[in-house]
Amino acid sequence: MGNYLCSYPLKVEGEDLGEITLMRNREFTHAELDLFQNLLCTLRYPLKNATLYHKALKMAATDELTQTLNRVSFNDTVKHEMNWAKLNSAHLSVIFLDIDYFKAINDQYGHDCGDSTLVAVAKLIKENLRKNDTVFRFGGEEFVILINQMSLKNAELLAKRIRSEIERNILVYDKKPIKVTASLGVSTLRSDDSFDAFIKRADHAMYKAKANGRNQVVLTD
Ligand code: GH3
Ligand code: MG
Ligand code: MG
Repeated sequence: MGNYLCSYPLKVEGEDLGEITLMRNREFTHAELDLFQNLLCTLRYPLKNATLYHKALKMAATDELTQTLNRVSFNDTVKHEMNWAKLNSAHLSVIFLDIDYFKAINDQYGHDCGDSTLVAVAKLIKENLRKNDTVFRFGGEEFVILINQMSLKNAELLAKRIRSEIERNILVYDKKPIKVTASLGVSTLRSDDSFDAFIKRADHAMYKAKANGRNQVVLTD
């Protein structure tokens, strides 16, 4: 730590971009302070552009309605996690979740109610996940959950908990209770899995859950 310190808040058009603090053991000269101020003025706009770019990237990867990740980042994220899991001989599980008879919710109560259902289901999923797990909105009323370092058995328990919480947490829309259920398929990464094989197994398991009567969890063989 130095004895002398000068600190500059960084603001562009009212937006706070943080603060830069310089410290040393020798007093800063006027010429040096002028130089810092000139350099910082030059830095403000590139910094602002970088933060805007970062926000734009995040927005491009996020589903606006549910604030989950969207399909844009799905392939890259899954491939990255598959590589990591294979290299580290770690578990990686995936859950496909599709809301049951969602079209009927839209038809009966309106599109806004359908949207609220999607938001409520996404929120409930997120509340059940750990920090490093990821949820994607895969399609209209379909979500995919990627769970790091979790065996098939534990992923099944998680899927069952999510299923029962969706069923139990009756959504209230316009003072009317809306019953929501979902069908879930679970699979875990095998050492010889390709991206397609890994994803398709969970997708098939979810379709089995639909075919078996919905509102249930099915594991891959
Ligand atoms: P299943 O139990 O077989 O999954 O039946 P389902 O009715 O859930 O499935 P289906 O594929 O027949 O209908 C899905 C509906 O989801 C149709 C589409 O209009 C609606 N949908 C897709 N995206 C959105 C959205 O962002 N908001 C709303 N409100 N509806 C959406
Ligand atoms: Mg559906
Ligand atoms: Mg669907």
